[in-house]
Amino acid sequence: RNTAEKFEFQAEVSRLMDIIINSLYSNKDIFLRELISNASDALDKIRFLSLTDKEVLGEGDNAKLEILIKLDKDKKILTIRDRGIGMTKEDLIKNLGTIAKSGTSAFVEKMQTSGDLNLIGQFGVGFYSVYLVADYVEVISKHNDDKQHVWESKADGQFAISEDTWNEPLGRGTEIRLHLREEAGEYLEEAKLKDLVKRYSEFINFPINLWATKEVEKEVPADDDDSSDEEETSESSSEEETEEEKEDEETEKKPKTKTIKETTQEWELLNDVKAIWLRNPKEVTEEEYTKFYHSLAKDFGDEKPMSWSHFNAEGDVEFKAVLFVPPKAPQDLYESYYNNNKASIKLYVRRVFISDEFDELLPKYLSFLQGLVDSDSLPLNVSREMLQQHSSLKTIKKKLIRKALDMIRKIADEDSDEDDGKDKKDVEKSAEDDEKKGQYAKFWNEFGKSVKLGIIEDAANRNRLAKLLRFETTKSGGKLTSLDKYISRMKSGQKDIFYITGTSKDQLEKSPFLERLSKKGYEVIFFTDPVDEYLMQYLMDYEDKKFQNVSKEGLKLGKDSKEKELKESYKELTKWWKGALASDKVDDVKISNRLANTPCVVVTSKFGWSANMERIMQSQTL
Ligand code: ADP
Ligand code: MG
Repeated sequence: RNTAEKFEFQAEVSRLMDIIINSLYSNKDIFLRELISNASDALDKIRFLSLTDKEVLGEGDNAKLEILIKLDKDKKILTIRDRGIGMTKEDLIKNLGTIAKSGTSAFVEKMQTSGDLNLIGQFGVGFYSVYLVADYVEVISKHNDDKQHVWESKADGQFAISEDTWNEPLGRGTEIRLHLREEAGEYLEEAKLKDLVKRYSEFINFPINLWATKEVEKEVPADDDDSSDEEETSESSSEEETEEEKEDEETEKKPKTKTIKETTQEWELLNDVKAIWLRNPKEVTEEEYTKFYHSLAKDFGDEKPMSWSHFNAEGDVEFKAVLFVPPKAPQDLYESYYNNNKASIKLYVRRVFISDEFDELLPKYLSFLQGLVDSDSLPLNVSREMLQQHSSLKTIKKKLIRKALDMIRKIADEDSDEDDGKDKKDVEKSAEDDEKKGQYAKFWNEFGKSVKLGIIEDAANRNRLAKLLRFETTKSGGKLTSLDKYISRMKSGQKDIFYITGTSKDQLEKSPFLERLSKKGYEVIFFTDPVDEYLMQYLMDYEDKKFQNVSKEGLKLGKDSKEKELKESYKELTKWWKGALASDKVDDVKISNRLANTPCVVVTSKFGWSANMERIMQSQTL
């Protein structure tokens, strides 16, 4: 078209499109899920706006918040339409081509190594998956603030935008027309589309309708000169009719009407829009939760979430929530922990999606969880900013944390491999138990650091979080153990929980600080993660037991009868030694009972940094 304005795709977007077009990735189905997810997002947006301004919805069909799918077999066009917020000309230019999202290059990079296109939605570039099946795509869109425009591209490095003067007016929303590639003919089959919607878009909260072919039976006036042959066909098509007709025949001999089959087209609803979180948890199957998790997390692998919790909170603040522990931590979970405000809990108010960017709902250390909250106690007709400050959010957050920690603890409780101080003998063995075996170690491996960060950040839940801690010790035989289990093994008369920090277990095992303790049969915890040093500045005690770093001053190992005598006889030596060493290097020189074979050790003062902490601080040269 002459009037079309041409644009170049941003370079990374162009590369991404090349990769998609040339991809040998076999699961091309994903494009439909991505388009439906975009349609659903657009519907969420207009519904949210309509809470404070009813006018935005318009009237009649325009106000129907739905997704419509149509097929044109002759022209090989698949159309997905929504009555969502739509895009202005400016939006079309920015969103579909010129502004690369942060995920674009990350995704391109990933595609070059592992190549799982299934993750495209997580990187915020799902739209471009249309080029898995189409070689030409038109996006027609109408936003309340602009005229209707068409975006079109053959994925040849550029796209065009025109004001739409030839298509039917949409009223509001977006229609995406996929001109399917030769080999993508299967997406013109109704059965295929029905199947895909069932499989991937089950949890979309708007009706998805397909313009489907229907066979209907129709009564038409019977012609007088009907041959008996035709009557027979109509008889075999419907028994009820036949009987009625027989009755008719009895009274009047000749039938006035006959039944014929006709194909027509009508909208067929493909999904069940009852939200899973509103259902009774007892009636939701494990498979349904798994699928729901996949759609929430945009993670369409086949892995099950490690655990979930679906509950109904009552009282001052009422809400329903579903929380999930993902099967794996995202790669960048701890990379930019303190700058990253990635919330993963979706907030709904009375079934209306409000935001997935409320980081007030869960503390940072639990941001690895996925889930959803739907509350009846929050106001609907206020801005996001006002909602963000609503006092009920604090109550919701408090309850969510509790439930989240319970859910994590349950993974350990149900894990027969777990050395958490609980007696697992009573637990009945079943196939399900086998599945849960080793789950907590897996959780710890993926998210253990989050538990530690929680102990640092969340004073109110410190003890609950400490219960979830796992570590190796001088006696755990290479396995992970817990504080409860450590306490259960403490020697009589032992008051403190002993630990040592360092870079690796191998290095620590050789430490002279352990000599005497090991000889006397005391168990010592190995802390080898850099974060452990910070952790132990916050975790002072557990179940009335103090933590004692065995490389620090203050280690008490019961009374040594000769202590006083030794102190006396070496008095001169310790005095001389203290004088010989510069006073800015050592505080004191003491006789100690902590060693067995090594003649002397350097110990850190009680409130000073351990040698390991010195090392960590020195490596952080910022
Ligand atoms: P994401 O959905 O993760 O943002 P996509 O690549 O799927 O990434 O979509 C890019 C952007 O294009 C969306 O963020 C949205 O702004 C816009 N968009 C896509 N489809 C629609 C639609 N049906 N209605 C309105 N805007 C849309
Ligand atoms: Mg999307």
